Amino acid sequence: MEASDISGEGVVVAHYGIAVALRLECGKTGRVRLRRSQSVRVGDRVVVEAGILEAVRPAHGVLSRRDSHGRVRSVAANLDALGIVLAPRPASPLGFVDRGLVAARALGLEARVVVNKADLPEADALHREMSAHYSAAADVVLVSAKTGAGLDDLRAWLQPGRRGVFVGTSGVGKSSILNALLPDLDLSVGEINEVSGLGRHVTSTATLHQLGGGGELIDTPGFRDFGPVEVSAAELAAFFPGFEDFLDRRCRFRDCLHRTEPGCAVLAAVEAGQIPAQRHAAYLALLSELLEIVELGR
Ligand code: GDP
Ligand code: ZN
Repeated sequence: MEASDISGEGVVVAHYGIAVALRLECGKTGRVRLRRSQSVRVGDRVVVEAGILEAVRPAHGVLSRRDSHGRVRSVAANLDALGIVLAPRPASPLGFVDRGLVAARALGLEARVVVNKADLPEADALHREMSAHYSAAADVVLVSAKTGAGLDDLRAWLQPGRRGVFVGTSGVGKSSILNALLPDLDLSVGEINEVSGLGRHVTSTATLHQLGGGGELIDTPGFRDFGPVEVSAAELAAFFPGFEDFLDRRCRFRDCLHRTEPGCAVLAAVEAGQIPAQRHAAYLALLSELLEIVELGR
């Protein structure tokens, strides 16, 4: 389809930096170039008239990560679900999972902790440890991209029409899980490139895929080297996993960061042994990391 023929409302299914591919409501796909000032993300709903991107609809569930220069970049829009992937090897810093869960709550996303590589002997122990830490905050599932174990659970999680994305440190198996869930992943990306007329050599920063039977997944190859998902200190204080039972008892100060403030409900729970001291220490470590970033003015 010629770019100038494209009109209507659609969703961004691939982002090439200078252009995006769209799936229009009429079912057709096509490509439009972006103007310099236009910023859209995969998953955004947009309005196109005669090949010109006229408007971006307000979005929910916008996930952001920080690039190697410290700039915050939006990875995807209109998300409903966040899969936080880890594996026995390579091990992930727990702070990665904590930040993922905080971001999910702050954005209203349905979160899952996905322990991959179930076929490895250490996987059961990791699954138990993650369940102990996080089952109050999110479902913790054990899967193997290699054997296919547990993948039906992931499909079922997205099937009610949810749009999800996986995050995790390098090597935990995100691409393998995507390939297992989307057997024709390479094919559909190739098709989008052809339709876009940009050629196969043009790599996309992100692509949106439909799962057979319902649900959608966003692949984010352009964000693989990015740091953990972006959260603020206030979000961390409000949503840290494991603190949820104590926060409705309300700290004295509404903007309490649970450090040394008087009348802090979290500190009281740590004192009483209801929150493990180790979890509070993990929280403080993450908090000082976030505050440092703010102080550096990044
Ligand atoms: P990503 O960096 O998170 O996208 O990870 P990849 O999908 O590239 O996988 C990293 C490595 O882990 C590769 O060598 C995969 O073959 C391997 N891997 C992925 N899933 C599994 C699994 O379920 N079991 C085992 N044993 N290895 C896996
Ligand atoms: Zn507090």
